[in-house]
Amino acid sequence: MKFYITTPIYYLNDVPHIGHSYTTIAADIMARWKRLKGYDVFFLTGTDEHGAKIVAAAKENGKSPQEFVDEMSEKFKEAWKLLNISNTDFIRTTDERHVKNAQNIIQLLFDKGLIYKKKYTALYCVGCEKFILERDLDENGCCHDHKTKPQLQSEENYFFKLSQFQETLLERILDANHKEHIEIQPIERRNEIVGKLKLGLDDISVSRAALDWGIPVPFDENHTIYVWVDALVSYITAIGYPIEKNNPLTAYWPADIHLMAKDILWFHSVIWPAILIGAGLAAPKKVYSHGFFTIDGDKMSKTIGNVISPQALVDKFGVDAARYLTVSLIPFGPDGDISWSGLNLKYNTDLANNLGNLTSRLNKMLQKYFEGNIPSVKHNAALFEKVEQILNEDFTKEMDAFQIHKASDALQRALTLINQQIENDAPWALAKTDMEKLKECLFSYIQSFDLILLYLFPYMPIISKKIWEINGAQGDLEEIAKDYLANPKKYKDGFSKAGAKLQIAEVLFPRIQ
Ligand SMILES: [Zn+2]
Repeated sequence: MKFYITTPIYYLNDVPHIGHSYTTIAADIMARWKRLKGYDVFFLTGTDEHGAKIVAAAKENGKSPQEFVDEMSEKFKEAWKLLNISNTDFIRTTDERHVKNAQNIIQLLFDKGLIYKKKYTALYCVGCEKFILERDLDENGCCHDHKTKPQLQSEENYFFKLSQFQETLLERILDANHKEHIEIQPIERRNEIVGKLKLGLDDISVSRAALDWGIPVPFDENHTIYVWVDALVSYITAIGYPIEKNNPLTAYWPADIHLMAKDILWFHSVIWPAILIGAGLAAPKKVYSHGFFTIDGDKMSKTIGNVISPQALVDKFGVDAARYLTVSLIPFGPDGDISWSGLNLKYNTDLANNLGNLTSRLNKMLQKYFEGNIPSVKHNAALFEKVEQILNEDFTKEMDAFQIHKASDALQRALTLINQQIENDAPWALAKTDMEKLKECLFSYIQSFDLILLYLFPYMPIISKKIWEINGAQGDLEEIAKDYLANPKKYKDGFSKAGAKLQIAEVLFPRIQ
């Protein structure tokens, strides 16, 4: 079973911030989850390095465009390393492999008569790097996203016959049973796309005449490929398509999920599928867009000074907590608000009080009553089965629907269940009256907790393994998780064997005041 997931190929006019991190961590969690479920996963991220905005930003920094993108691209690689992102490949649109492939696709479309030359005069927003229609401007005649007036530009450009694809796209998007169905999520945004599609499609320009910093159009050296078209093609470049027809990686196509923020959904759900269909290739199976978020109620901006970097998140919370908090704080899909106070509160509630507290209290009791060994006892599976139900049903359902904030809620519910059971059983009282019962209780807590760690792994790959070891559980967590998800019955007696020695738990999540 193959599974191909992509983040956007990030545009290099900005350093990586929490917006990029949000999408990339979410994709990483999904990739890790699918690997546990036995999928052969290809996870792509990368950087989009051409276009007028890059030239301007390079100039501002006193660099050549190439020097500038080399440096900026490195910053993204560093950020993903910092956040423990498990991407399979990192594509740069200035990579030789990509340049060839983008030219190949444009040539293919040209040969099929889907590209023609036309003189065009229209409003152009440099911020968006795209032509913009008057009806899409705000009341001041400015671009909604950039709050600047677009400029009238006149150019002779190559156009792609996007207008020909309206029917095909509508059919594939609307019919869930279509064998080449294109699923757009969430449903509200899919409806917006469908509404806009029904109004009809204009052909789009796919080249620039006055811009050198781009990939040359193979059939006209005076033009470069429009940066957006170039960037989208990188999703197939990375898996060796279509230049290397026998490359085994091409089996990953079509992509299972293209993940992105909502502002670029149109490119991914309309323009990109049309280009692919035009070139005789399969369109992506699913395009998933999440919302925008504000920081403490304000739009994130350098001027306001509220930009949150991946480094700042890691410095404050540590890598795993930063990963968990970033994607768990707000619903995945709609717009939301992220604030340091919200992150701190969630850290204290979910991690210090629930996960961290369970780790340490369980550890202390086993150290105190059984000298740090897992007691030998027959497994009373009642609690284990309740936890298993939350994880197998709620967690799995939400995760498979990419509702990662709800899946993290399910993890918290499962942890709370154990913490509550401890309160109900009062092991400290049992220690004085019923040692057999005490053994049974502690044994069932630890097995249930181990089970949660298997599902926590995609969010917190380091901490989950650390607690796994603290708990005296056997084997490599990741391997056990794969085996468990394939054969849950094999593990009905749990993961920490009787007699296993626990490690002494350090404080994993010190409370933030
Ligand atoms: Zn704009």
